[in-house]
Amino acid sequence: MTIPPAAVSTGKTSRVLIAGPTGFIGQFITGASLASGRPTYVLFRSSSGCPSKSKAIKYFQDRGAIILFGRINDKEFMEKTLKEHQIDVVISAVGGEAILDQLPLVEAINAAGTVKRFLPSEFGHDLDRADPVEPGLTMYTEKRLVRSLIDKYHVPYTYICCNSIASWPYYNNKHPSEVIPPLDQFEIYGDGTVKAYFVAGTDIGKFTMKTVDDIRTLNKSVHFQPSCNFYNMNELATLWERKIGRTLPRVTITEDDLLAAAAENCIPQSVVASFTHDIFIKGCQSNFSLDGPDDVEVCKLYPDESFRTLDECFEDFLVKAKMEDLSVKEDESNKTNPVVESLAITATCA
Ligand code: NDP
Repeated sequence: MTIPPAAVSTGKTSRVLIAGPTGFIGQFITGASLASGRPTYVLFRSSSGCPSKSKAIKYFQDRGAIILFGRINDKEFMEKTLKEHQIDVVISAVGGEAILDQLPLVEAINAAGTVKRFLPSEFGHDLDRADPVEPGLTMYTEKRLVRSLIDKYHVPYTYICCNSIASWPYYNNKHPSEVIPPLDQFEIYGDGTVKAYFVAGTDIGKFTMKTVDDIRTLNKSVHFQPSCNFYNMNELATLWERKIGRTLPRVTITEDDLLAAAAENCIPQSVVASFTHDIFIKGCQSNFSLDGPDDVEVCKLYPDESFRTLDECFEDFLVKAKMEDLSVKEDESNKTNPVVESLAITATCA
């Protein structure tokens, strides 16, 4: 598949299709796409289901999204949809269990021949450099398979390597930013000195959308390395202690503890444990230099744009912690729910 050079920079009117808008990452991407003013098509798997999905559909619809129903693994449907709506940019934010569903999507993008940029569901580490143990490795192997098909068809791409979500990195929780940092004790991985980059979900959305029609990010891996949010576990604990105004005991989770949690093969917790091991023991986010021809760093691309600091994100957690304490005394009916409710994490042991 070849794209004429003139079609590469598509500007603010690019038509964007997002798969996985109800997901953890997909919500941020969809919000940012709508905020950017681009025509935004959001693909839901089905119209029925839990009330939170109906709420999400209405929420995005009210903000101008065009709602579509279907699955990315239905090649004929996807090819027809991409052509019919003249989609310029496809962003997939499907979850870990659906990575291979993207193979028919890549086939459809190739067959349609009109898509100017594809962002597959990565949103984590650089697949060429990270080296998690199983079961995280399986997910990376699947993501690498998607990359291979993209290469095979010369589909124009951008890979988002946004590193960790800004929150306390609970090693057994797929979406730790939905959980308040510890209030009893800290579990510190190894000696707590290995650093990682922490990025707010809204910034993952915002900067992802900046890349989609930026010619500098065409066929590149975009690394999110905001220096203001480069912390190790000990520094993270100190930051939270300053917020809550007291110190907490620190217990060590050793490398062997993390490997044992990964080896239990409970999905998704063991996947998270294997990534936690790769990040905080092996240093996969920082043990390399960004000098490859296919690497770009987001702060260098957009030097005038600021990131939410981890300090600000922890301030939000403090407010949430205080509200949760207060809500114990409040009438249950007064509690507010987020517009798009969090999806429960279902664990299955393989
Ligand atoms: P979720 O599991 O939260 O959401 C997945 C979404 O994909 C849902 O909207 C789901 O729809 C949709 N979906 C699944 N299969 C299909 C399909 N065949 N067709 C259409 N839609 C489908 O995903 P996450 O947000 O957790 O993960 C997204 C990506 O982000 C992954 O690559 C993951 O590895 C990465 N990630 C990175 C994190 C970080 O800290 N850097 C944290 C978490 C994830 P439905 O509502 O019907 O289920």
